[in-house]
Amino acid sequence: MLVVMKNDATKEQVQAVIEEIEKMGFRGIPMPGAERTAVCIVGNKGPVDDYRLLMLDGVKEAIPVTKPFKLVSKETKPESTVIIIGNVKIGAGEIVVMAGPCAVESEKQCLTIAQSVKKSGAKIFRGGAFKPRTSPYSFQGLGEDGLKILARVRQETGLLIVTEATDNASIDLVEQYADIIQIGARNMQNYSLLRRAGQASKPILLKRGLAATIDELLMSAEYIMSEGNHQIILCERGIRTFTNTTRNTLDLSAIPSIKELSHLPIIVDPSHAAGRREFVIPLSKAAVAVGADGLIVEVHNDPAHALSDGAQSLYLEQFAQLMIEIKQYRK
Ligand code: PEP
Ligand code: MN
Repeated sequence: MLVVMKNDATKEQVQAVIEEIEKMGFRGIPMPGAERTAVCIVGNKGPVDDYRLLMLDGVKEAIPVTKPFKLVSKETKPESTVIIIGNVKIGAGEIVVMAGPCAVESEKQCLTIAQSVKKSGAKIFRGGAFKPRTSPYSFQGLGEDGLKILARVRQETGLLIVTEATDNASIDLVEQYADIIQIGARNMQNYSLLRRAGQASKPILLKRGLAATIDELLMSAEYIMSEGNHQIILCERGIRTFTNTTRNTLDLSAIPSIKELSHLPIIVDPSHAAGRREFVIPLSKAAVAVGADGLIVEVHNDPAHALSDGAQSLYLEQFAQLMIEIKQYRK
């Protein structure tokens, strides 16, 4: 249930609604919007007695929310959410591109890539310091030393930093160093990590799980938002597939589907979807054409010697080409 306030409702009237909802045994979460303020009721199992709320001053109407995800639903907030970090706006019509290596390997590697992708037009630098690897014997990332390198990249280039937190221990550190905290595909349903992300002071990049439905992705975003963090960027990164020509199958229909269901911005990771650099540019164009708000792309200065995901990493010149080629699809 969504309690919609009148345009001239005061803060005190919104607070009175929240308190009445709490008396009923539920939680009321304010959803400020450009057009109106509404209070979303969460925690109720069945219908809510809206009469008690409609009687309160400043209340315009009460409307049912039909979806199990409430706070992230477009029913609750019809206008699109724009994530603003510094001078970068995600979800405001511009295609925001995040680029960098799969993993932070060294300061020299990161600075070389960062300077190049910045010149090509990337606004955000990506690179994992904590790496969730399929094999325990693979490179696991540099940990806090990697985060320090990322902080240096931001200092040197002015690029914002997105990097992954793999568990409740690493998120404390990642929150200190990053501008955006990434929750990876393998952790999309790690509910304690999602709750912790919901208490973080930084925006969250939530990647779709390897075999997760759109509803499950949105329910995971709901976990984060229900803890108070409304700054969430969703990411389609390809789903498990039976084909063996690509690493995953990029679900392009996820983008319009999510735009229909949620107010949150959605970006696309063509690198993990394809697993092969040859497909990254065509998939990026397709992603932009179907309405993605941005891209997250793996780029390496020496992919042949990358410590992870070299085969899907673009060469620096290829990334420059990608930035030129996607321009015509922006409109
Ligand atoms: C990554 O972006 O570094 C990554 C590991 O991606 P995913 O979680 O989508 O596999
Ligand atoms: Mn990778």
